[in-house]
Amino acid sequence: MREFEKPIIVSSKCIEFEPCRYNALIISSKVVENLKGYAIFNPVCPEVGVGLGIPRDPVRLVKDNGNTQLLQPATGSDLTRKMIDFSDEFLSNLNDVDGFILKNRSPSCGFKNVKRYYGLNNAGAVRDGVGLFAQMVKNRYSYLPLEDEGRLRNLTIRENFLTKIFTLAEFRKINKEGSFSDMIDFHSRNKFLLLSFNQEIARKMGKSLSDGKKHLESVKKEYGEFLVHLLSRNPKVTSNINVLMHAFGYFSNELSSAEKSFFLDNLKRYREGRIPLLVNINLLKFWILRFNEEYLDKQTFFQPYPENMMQITFIYDKMG
Ligand code: SF4
Repeated sequence: MREFEKPIIVSSKCIEFEPCRYNALIISSKVVENLKGYAIFNPVCPEVGVGLGIPRDPVRLVKDNGNTQLLQPATGSDLTRKMIDFSDEFLSNLNDVDGFILKNRSPSCGFKNVKRYYGLNNAGAVRDGVGLFAQMVKNRYSYLPLEDEGRLRNLTIRENFLTKIFTLAEFRKINKEGSFSDMIDFHSRNKFLLLSFNQEIARKMGKSLSDGKKHLESVKKEYGEFLVHLLSRNPKVTSNINVLMHAFGYFSNELSSAEKSFFLDNLKRYREGRIPLLVNINLLKFWILRFNEEYLDKQTFFQPYPENMMQITFIYDKMG
């Protein structure tokens, strides 16, 4: 059974941690609740961080004279400078981090589609803003996975996010204390997963490990940069299908024509968006066990994050 390194996640504190919203409420998120057992959270409330109380008058983003400000209309306070300073200090003091889960639509934490009011006295708003804290996260950690609790209800978004944070967490450990053979082992076990994200970068990563002249630390640095670059995008359906077909090739001589048709039908349904990737992965996992295919059994592509997160996420998505 694979052991997973715990990802370190910075999250908005009002999501499952404390009732610190402007109205003193807490936001529930099944993903965050379940992830608590498998990750290390570093929750933060930037609005409390700049000295606002709970409850408090709401704040909003206002675009005026070309600048976006964070204002509290009821008190007339301009919190822009305070929020930038707080965010800068908080993010500067972070040590390890593998990803971010922020509250959607918040003028502080929302990373997209936040209401922005045009003009100080104009009541009209457009959902084209980014919360000030979230903007600082994006500026400083553009290469790390960033999601909000609303988007994580979507199965594909959730699968990609979980895959990335658990992969980055494992590499973080190897990067700190791993040997050259640990790096080779990481690359070998993640080969299918890396190919599903980006074949070209995956090959460059393999090449960087085969350059025997380089010092271990510089190999780790180069490899780590390739990895975050590769994980900065999501895998395409066609790339996942290529990987699934490649794995299928390991068993195709052993399977009946009915089993082959069943697999290819499922692949077609996945391509058409009618079933999730997980269905095809589970089918291949069954054959991996049946034919005792050790090389594939070690591939993280078939279990990129803890099994319980896979089952729970699938059930919630069906119910949701
Ligand atoms: S969205 Fe951010 S600033 Fe607002 S209550 Fe939640 S953690 Fe605090």
